[in-house]
Amino acid sequence: MALKVFKFGGASVQDATNIKNVCSILKNHSNEQLVVVISAMGKMTNALEEVVNAYYYENGNAYEKLENVRKFHYDIISALSFEEADLAYSEVNDHLVEIEWILEEPVQDSYDYVYDQIVSIGELMSTKIIAHYLRSKNVNALWLDARDCIWTDDTYREGRVDWEMTKTRLKSKIDPILNDSNVIVTQGFIASDSANNNVTLGREGSDYTAAIFSYCLDAESMHIWKDVPGILTADPQCFDYTTKIERLSYQEAIEMTYFGAKVIHPKTIKPLQNKNIPLYVRPFNDESSLGTCISDVDELSYPPIIVLEQNQAIINISTKDFSFIAEHHLSEIFDTLNRHRVKVNMMRNAAISFSLCVIHDSHKVNAFLEALKQDYVTDVITGLELITIRHFNQSTIVEMKRDKIILFEELLHNTIRLVVKINTTLKRKSVDI
Ligand code: ASP
Ligand code: MG
Repeated sequence: MALKVFKFGGASVQDATNIKNVCSILKNHSNEQLVVVISAMGKMTNALEEVVNAYYYENGNAYEKLENVRKFHYDIISALSFEEADLAYSEVNDHLVEIEWILEEPVQDSYDYVYDQIVSIGELMSTKIIAHYLRSKNVNALWLDARDCIWTDDTYREGRVDWEMTKTRLKSKIDPILNDSNVIVTQGFIASDSANNNVTLGREGSDYTAAIFSYCLDAESMHIWKDVPGILTADPQCFDYTTKIERLSYQEAIEMTYFGAKVIHPKTIKPLQNKNIPLYVRPFNDESSLGTCISDVDELSYPPIIVLEQNQAIINISTKDFSFIAEHHLSEIFDTLNRHRVKVNMMRNAAISFSLCVIHDSHKVNAFLEALKQDYVTDVITGLELITIRHFNQSTIVEMKRDKIILFEELLHNTIRLVVKINTTLKRKSVDI
């Protein structure tokens, strides 16, 4: 029988009501072979990040923050009120104790390493609770540790998958337990390296996990259940008028996510495309809808699609001796970007300066600037937005430029990108697209 991979994100398991909804969806598919990939509940990854920061930078009470995480999970278990609740409480407690052990020691390791050891616990707790809950509702859920299946290198916070090892391990773990009466519940976002340390795959990486499982197990289809009707022409939290796109080609989905569309993790599509596995992005509150289907279709004609990325910075770099920016400078700058893992969205060079538009992760950007300090003069403009319009038309461009200062503008085939400064609030009216 054909295997399906389902993925439920943080919002779909943020409270007891939504977890019950997940349970009812799974019940309706309980005679199929299912692997279910689940994220940490609600905003728990952010809450665990706060624990890490308080511990690592000593800028808050890590234990207090951890207690909030405990309370959140305990409240959900109690609101679900089910038979195996005692087991769920004690397993959540065991995971929290693992974090307490880390907090008791002085900081020794890199930030990224510590981050992964602590933050990955969010997915472990959510899947433990949900697996127990499902069993109490007669769904035969088997809990699988994704860290036993997905292997990466030790690039903490951005693990690079070892596909061969992952495929072998995953099949050897799954094949014996995969049958029609089981629902396999596993964690998104987390993996392990060859020393068995926790490694995460990058924020919002659960989609990617589901794609890794789909690829390695030759799934018939992958389904991401979300709190939106499907993929829309723009983010409904930022724009008033959006419409659902029924079908997308893999190529268009890759481009959209590359340009920053948050609806799916950018690494998700490629493994699916390689095996021609269709991806459905569907609403978890309307099971009858298949949402948006991403598959191997010929290029379709699309309406203007707008992708908004906030928290951008422009970094202007020039040499201290006012010499032209030559190839060896570029090579040095790129090498430094790579070392500090600064994410570049756009770049431009002029005679004596080189400018980059980057994601403003202040931790990484500051380290990058510090490393360039000796030979270059830099200045940084923060608080910017990057607007990408795919399949643009003139009215969309005019609308997107309104009330903004345009700092960078780039036209690439059917895509226009604008780095802008705005002073209005996030909520804005968009053109009717
Ligand atoms: N829980 C992780 C995050 O919030 C992974 C995910 O949700 O996809 O980034
Ligand atoms: Mg999420």
